[in-house]
Amino acid sequence: MRILIFQVLCGEVSRMPSDERAFVNSYVTNEPSSFSSEQDVIPSNFRKRIEKFLFEKLKVLRENLNDGNISVKDVSVYTGLSGIALMLIKLEKSQILKDKIDFSLKDLAFKITKHNDSKKSSAFTYLCGAPGALYVKALSGAEAKSLEPKNLKDILDLGSSLCHSGSGAYDEYLYGRAGYLGCLVFMAKSFPTQKDELVMDKICQAMIDSGVNSAKRNRLNQPMHFEWHESEYVGGAHGYAGIFYFLLKLRNCPSVQAVLHTVLKSALYWFLELQLDSGNYPSSIGSGRDKLVHWCHGAPSAVFTLITAYEVYGDEKFKSAALECGQCVWKRGFLKKGYGICHGTAGNAYTFLALYRATGNFQHLYRAVCFAQLCLDFDKPHRSADRPFSLFEGLAGTMYFLIDMLDHENARFPCYEFDSI
Ligand SMILES: [Zn+2]
Repeated sequence: MRILIFQVLCGEVSRMPSDERAFVNSYVTNEPSSFSSEQDVIPSNFRKRIEKFLFEKLKVLRENLNDGNISVKDVSVYTGLSGIALMLIKLEKSQILKDKIDFSLKDLAFKITKHNDSKKSSAFTYLCGAPGALYVKALSGAEAKSLEPKNLKDILDLGSSLCHSGSGAYDEYLYGRAGYLGCLVFMAKSFPTQKDELVMDKICQAMIDSGVNSAKRNRLNQPMHFEWHESEYVGGAHGYAGIFYFLLKLRNCPSVQAVLHTVLKSALYWFLELQLDSGNYPSSIGSGRDKLVHWCHGAPSAVFTLITAYEVYGDEKFKSAALECGQCVWKRGFLKKGYGICHGTAGNAYTFLALYRATGNFQHLYRAVCFAQLCLDFDKPHRSADRPFSLFEGLAGTMYFLIDMLDHENARFPCYEFDSI
């Protein structure tokens, strides 16, 4: 039976079945019960289909860049030129289109990011702010022209203002401290000489202090408390899933070590209890709603946090909860909202790739392949996205995912998921 929920949209109250946000995933009813090898899972024409898609969509992307249909004012990774550049660099490195194109993707990435500067954004995070734009500019320069990174000191300088819990900064990923940490992490991976463990540790300490102090101040019966614009969000973009993911991944920092088996562990068990009967996670505490199955809000980002909690604490409950997330995304993750990364079918598919790495069960790889097939079947632009060519809302994100599908062992949710550094 369908669960009916009430939703307030533009001041109106509409009655909407919770699954109206997703297409019916026709692969669910025909899913084989077992797989014995990767060959069972990946169709023989899969690579060719992806190559064709990438070739055709790259042409579309270039035409729109040349025609000025993509704003040069937005330099962010999330919706702007820096995110598109990251996809182009990835495509060049993959060599997938090596024999099909006669121009350098790295040069194109450099061309569209070389004017990035810190004045174009006041946000301080990887996805939405100047640090992300400056880092991608440096990366593009290094890839295309072997240029030494120059602007990275500006990124590190930002850290000092965020290093105390009373600075008024939020802690979530899109606009908060976790998002600044994200930039430091990916920058350290690209430019090991720029790794600053001291700043990372101080930011982690500020996040821990912020969460613990807020829980105490508000006399809450939970170990840590975080808000973004007065709402207590749960998902990867604005909430607990993203904050806890970064703290767990950076567990070698002394500040995290100090709470890893005390307050942070309690917080992860508290997070475990937030899971809904459907396997999904609510978008915010107290909403009671079970409607969004996105990376930004819902099970598709909780899965990364839960898998990491399982690695750290070894409790099967975390693994079971991660598998429940997978079931939810499988049934409800083929989104009408589009084929992008933040709230789209491509982003949701990273759930299965993470579960496949964690379990070795081919079923999860099969599910990722099915989501890739759904992405390949679309031939229209992302009509519902504000930035239809961007990395997190549009075509560049779909392309990024499909490049990853041809090297799925090394696929990681872009600009978020990472191996320990
Ligand atoms: Zn989103």
